[in-house]
Amino acid sequence: MAMLQDNLEGIFAPDGVLSQTLKGFRARPSQLAFALVVKDAIDNQSTVAVEAGTGTGKTFAYLIPALISKRQITITTASKTLQDQLFKKDVKILSKALSRKIDVAVLKGRANYVCRLRLDVTASSDRLPEATSGEKLREIIAFTKTTETGDLSELAGLPETDPLIPLVTSTQRNCLGAKCPHAEKCFVNMARERAAEADIVIVNHHLYLSDLVLKKSGAPGLLPESEVLVFDEAHKLSDIASDYFSESFSVRQLAEFADDIRRTGKTFFPEGAWDKHAKNVSEALLAFHDFLRVQTAFVEDVQIELKEIEDIHTTGADLLSEVVKAFTDYLNFFENVESDKDEAGLLELAKENAADLISVLRVWVLRLKDAGHKPEKGKAPEVLWARITEKNAILNLTPVSVREHFKLARATSNSAWIFTSATLSVKGEDGEPNFDFFLHELGLEDIAETHTWASPFDFENQAFLYLPEDLADTNDERFAQTLGKSILPLLKANPGKTFILCTSYEKMNALATYLEVMLENPDVICLQGTTGKAQLLERFKEMDGAVLIGSMSFWEGVDMKGENLRLVVIDKLPFKPFDTPVDRAREAFLKEQNRSPFMDYQLPVMIMTLRQGVGRLIRSEDDYGVVVIGDNRIAKKGYGKIVRASLPAMTKTRFLTRAKSFLVDPENTP
Ligand code: SF4
Repeated sequence: MAMLQDNLEGIFAPDGVLSQTLKGFRARPSQLAFALVVKDAIDNQSTVAVEAGTGTGKTFAYLIPALISKRQITITTASKTLQDQLFKKDVKILSKALSRKIDVAVLKGRANYVCRLRLDVTASSDRLPEATSGEKLREIIAFTKTTETGDLSELAGLPETDPLIPLVTSTQRNCLGAKCPHAEKCFVNMARERAAEADIVIVNHHLYLSDLVLKKSGAPGLLPESEVLVFDEAHKLSDIASDYFSESFSVRQLAEFADDIRRTGKTFFPEGAWDKHAKNVSEALLAFHDFLRVQTAFVEDVQIELKEIEDIHTTGADLLSEVVKAFTDYLNFFENVESDKDEAGLLELAKENAADLISVLRVWVLRLKDAGHKPEKGKAPEVLWARITEKNAILNLTPVSVREHFKLARATSNSAWIFTSATLSVKGEDGEPNFDFFLHELGLEDIAETHTWASPFDFENQAFLYLPEDLADTNDERFAQTLGKSILPLLKANPGKTFILCTSYEKMNALATYLEVMLENPDVICLQGTTGKAQLLERFKEMDGAVLIGSMSFWEGVDMKGENLRLVVIDKLPFKPFDTPVDRAREAFLKEQNRSPFMDYQLPVMIMTLRQGVGRLIRSEDDYGVVVIGDNRIAKKGYGKIVRASLPAMTKTRFLTRAKSFLVDPENTP
């Protein structure tokens, strides 16, 4: 053990291995301390939550002790950007620095890999989703002849949302597993085999959570067992998790499933009544969907608790029973179909899946009849709700809290669990970092050790926080105009580029409209929605004096250094309103527990998001710039003190002239 510790010190020291091999490496005590904490967690298979500010070097701080331990490592991230950075950059650099071959694999969900069997079935189908699908199908077939991975993201020109993708990829349900004639050359199997042999497997939170849910149900998991589990970008985990612990079905998925059976069945037994039965299911689903649309007054994209839908207990449940009946008739029909040609057993699998689905839908009929039933007092409730659009209706049973699920997963795991992010805490009343919110959400409060290492950057000298005084309130209709007017002199003086991070499309568009008129050269505006995110960022990088105006998707995971970002404007404190059925149930549950929905939920969530937005500005020791927050509440409200204390220690000013002077001449601004 002593040797491992010596090794870490030798690696991270000012004259250590990293200093000698990595250009620009700066030894930081916080990085070594972080690595030693990870080493301890690995030795003791314990749980740690580590908040490490930008510039701490957190990926090396967890990767190096994990690699030295020679244990199987899984890293799960929220964003593709971080996955790419780990896979394409960090691990390669480390491999060179440590003179060691590191076998690393990125594993994605099934829906990313071509399924050879479903591709065969779809290729012989009489019906494809779009007129252009035939051409795309030929491209996919050609792709499978040259690709080593079968990963559809390598096939240029096929959008992630193409309706052909579900027909040429597999799901847990429709995969034949070991019985599949393509099992040996199956891309999903090959990706998993590569992952099982790798030193490090990189996945995203979605895949990790799918694996967790599958293993919990007793089914074989998707990921190899790991001994070191690192949750990077851990602040996103609980939010993503509530979807994975939900039970759901969607009208569109059921219709696709019915059509899938039709397509498969006709391949082996063309003369059967497949079309008639698929049509019956489709019509029953349409009637159920129409009922939901009528009862919600055709409002587009509505989220509603089922108990609020009039007649859901009666007409709604009856219409869903009709769907069950149509599926049951369908199953009765093809249960008796035997075909010698179906050597792989696709029809057998369809029968099993249809029978499972009918059982699941019967439970949903009962849920509809019982919608509004109160849960036991004190037990975390589940919310029965629907999202209804013109094209689809998704019914969900969602837990208000995921903490019990994580507690159970932790209790049954022998791995070390390392949670890390630049934002896991808020400043408590005592001015100390407080992890209560993060730990409580994941049920880790009794077992996790916590550590914080602030960013090594000198925020006081590198950044100004400008809080304008003359702004309208954020809900005042003049707000966008007053904020635009207030930041205009900064935009004009800025020698570098600007991010304007908005909390809503409405505010984003209002600010863009104002600035398009007021800026001398409106072409510098890069407005979200005018093109894809990647292209917009490329355009931003290429254009002198660019001003990017975007909403929440630009608050995290965007790394612009130096002149590429000198000014960050945040329109409003990013509070998450309780405006969905799950949020409202969460609010009620917190009240029932005598906790404050605002102080115990909305405020910490807002602060973590705000810290991410502010964190876009200073990305290196040489960076400098100004953050503007256009929300008066940060100065006027009592909680503003907690918000200000939770931000990096920037020099605060309420004077435009000072902020402007710092942008132009930081060294001579007092
Ligand atoms: S094993 Fe499953 S995923 Fe792989 S080709 Fe066969 S059906 Fe498709």
